[in-house]
Amino acid sequence: MTTSSSTLVDLRSDTVTRPTAAMRDAMLSAPLGDDVFGDDPSVNALQEQIAGMLGFEAALFVPTGTQSNLCAILSHCQRGDEYIVGQQAHCYRWEGGGAAVFGSVQPQPLNHQPDGTLALDEIEASIKPDDAHFARTRLLALENTLGGKVLPFAYVEQATQLAQRKGLSRHLDGARLFNAAVAQAAERGTDPRTEARRIAGCFDTVSVCFSKGLGAPVGSALCGSREFIARAHRIRKMAGGGMRQAGILAAAASHALDHHVERLAQDHALARRLAEGLAGIAELQVEAPQTNLLFVDLTGAARSRSAELLAHLKQNAVLATGLYRLRFATHLDVDASGIDRAVRAIRSFFHA
Ligand SMILES: *Cc1c(COP(=O)(O)O)cnc(C)c1O
Repeated sequence: MTTSSSTLVDLRSDTVTRPTAAMRDAMLSAPLGDDVFGDDPSVNALQEQIAGMLGFEAALFVPTGTQSNLCAILSHCQRGDEYIVGQQAHCYRWEGGGAAVFGSVQPQPLNHQPDGTLALDEIEASIKPDDAHFARTRLLALENTLGGKVLPFAYVEQATQLAQRKGLSRHLDGARLFNAAVAQAAERGTDPRTEARRIAGCFDTVSVCFSKGLGAPVGSALCGSREFIARAHRIRKMAGGGMRQAGILAAAASHALDHHVERLAQDHALARRLAEGLAGIAELQVEAPQTNLLFVDLTGAARSRSAELLAHLKQNAVLATGLYRLRFATHLDVDASGIDRAVRAIRSFFHA
C-alpha cells in the first residue's frame, strides 16, 4: 500500500497492517471446515506448511502469539516448574503473567546484555539444583528478534546447547523470527528461509506470529514434535483457542508465508532510512536499527518531552509509541514517502 500525504503514517506497530487485495482474495477462496473436528483444509495446510518450513513434525494454529507462548510454556512445564527468560521477553513481561496465572509456572527472569542476549554464565547459575527448596527449572525461553535485535546465531547455538546439556527444554518466541532470518541472511549471503530453519533448528518449540511484519490480520503458530503439539492442542482448547472455520484466517497466513517473507528486507531498509533521516538532531539518541523496529531516546532537557513530541506527530498524521522509549515500527503499509514525512514532522518539532 502506498501512503499519500493525506493518509496516516502509522508507525506504532507492525501489527497495524491491513490485508492486501491478494491476501483478501486468498481468504475468500479458502476451503473451510470445522477445525475443532480437524476438518479445516486451510488450517491443516498452514500447519503443515509452517512446520515443514521450520523443520518440525507438527504445528498448531492459534489466534495470538500470547496464546502460542502460553500453550508452549504450559506444555513444557508442570505446576511448580520454572522457565528461564529475559526481563524484557514478551512471554515474561508483556503477557499479563499468564504462565504463572494459568499454569502456576514460575518465571526466572534474567537481565539482558546490550545485544539482547542472556549471559550464558547467568543462565547456568540460575538453574536450580534438584532440591525440595527450589522450583524445578525446566525450560529456557529465548526471543528473536528481541526489541528488534537479532540474537547472534553463534549465541543461539551456545545457549540452546547449554540448555540441552542441563536437561532443559528450549522454546523460541519467534514472533519476528522471519525478521531475524532476513537480517541474518543479508549478513551471511544466504536466503531467509534457510536462516529461519537454521535458527528454529536450535529449539524444541518455536512460536511465530503471522500478524506482525508478515501482514496477516490474525494468527500465530506453535511448532514442535507431534507429541508436543498434541499436548499443546489440549491447552489451546482450555484457553479457548479452538476456532471453527479458522481457515479463512489460516489462508491469510499461508499467503503471507508465500509472499511476505523476503519483502521484510524493505521494512528493514525503511527503518534505516528513518534512522538516517533523524541523524544530527541534538536532542535525539537514535539506536541503529537491525530490523524493522527503531528505538529513539530523548536526551538532556528534551528527556521529558516525549508525550509532547508524540502529540505533535499525531497532529502531522504520524503515529508512534512511547511506553518506555520512542518506538517506530516499519511494515508493509508504509513506504519511503511516509518515512520521509515522519522525518520532516520530527525535525519540525525540534526546529532541526
Ligand atoms: C506481539 C508479540 C507476541 C504476542 O503476540 P499477540 O498476537 O499480540 O498476542 C509475542 N511475542 C513477541 C515477541 C511479540 O512481539
